Amino acid sequence: MNLPAEIPSLDVLVVAPHPDDAELGAGGTICKLLESGLRVGVVDLTSGEPTPHGTPEIRAKETEAASEILGLNWRGNLGLPNRELEPTLESRRLLASVMRLASPRWILAPYWEDGHPDHLAATLITEAARFWSKLTKSEMPGDPWHPERIYYYFCVHLKLTPSPAFIVDISAQWARKRAAIEAYQSQFVLNRPTDSPTLLDRFEIDAAYWGKAIGRQYGEPFASREPVGLESLQGLI
Ligand SMILES: [Zn+2]
Repeated sequence: MNLPAEIPSLDVLVVAPHPDDAELGAGGTICKLLESGLRVGVVDLTSGEPTPHGTPEIRAKETEAASEILGLNWRGNLGLPNRELEPTLESRRLLASVMRLASPRWILAPYWEDGHPDHLAATLITEAARFWSKLTKSEMPGDPWHPERIYYYFCVHLKLTPSPAFIVDISAQWARKRAAIEAYQSQFVLNRPTDSPTLLDRFEIDAAYWGKAIGRQYGEPFASREPVGLESLQGLI
């Protein structure tokens, strides 16, 4: 486990337990934020390996390809243990250090209810790190920083029917999100059934479901523990 060497200033930091979770849960919104000129980075907490058809080398290459498709400003990996991710003080310290150095206004984190223990741990690490990030008189690098909000994306290993706080219209970004997911060939394409609907088709069905809920083609849902504030009603659809 290591603090990545160079961490630039960001507007939005996406925390992902494994490389591919950010793409699955928030890929469209990431593209949209980047299109609006905001600086977006992803920090993967683990390598995501082992998996049945991946290797650390293959997964790293796929992650690089997906990051390029999204057009991320930065991506780092904390090298915490895959499958055994725990909300330890060390993982909290590492992620809080990333937050202090990147000083993001918003954090996107995995939803708090999940069947995957790594995802549950990632949520706890993120919430604790957000608090620690603002501590003064600390050994952590960077200046104290408190991200304004955490919004939670859905990349969930449970058959949930979530009630999101808001849904982002990603109709114009869907093709890029799908391409970024598809970059993870070892996870979603190779050795998977090719009969329709494929796994990729199922992701599209999900996006269409959330789009329908807001009268658009494709959508991406987010939850929030804190109330969502609006400057005006202008942005509502
Ligand atoms: Zn995951």
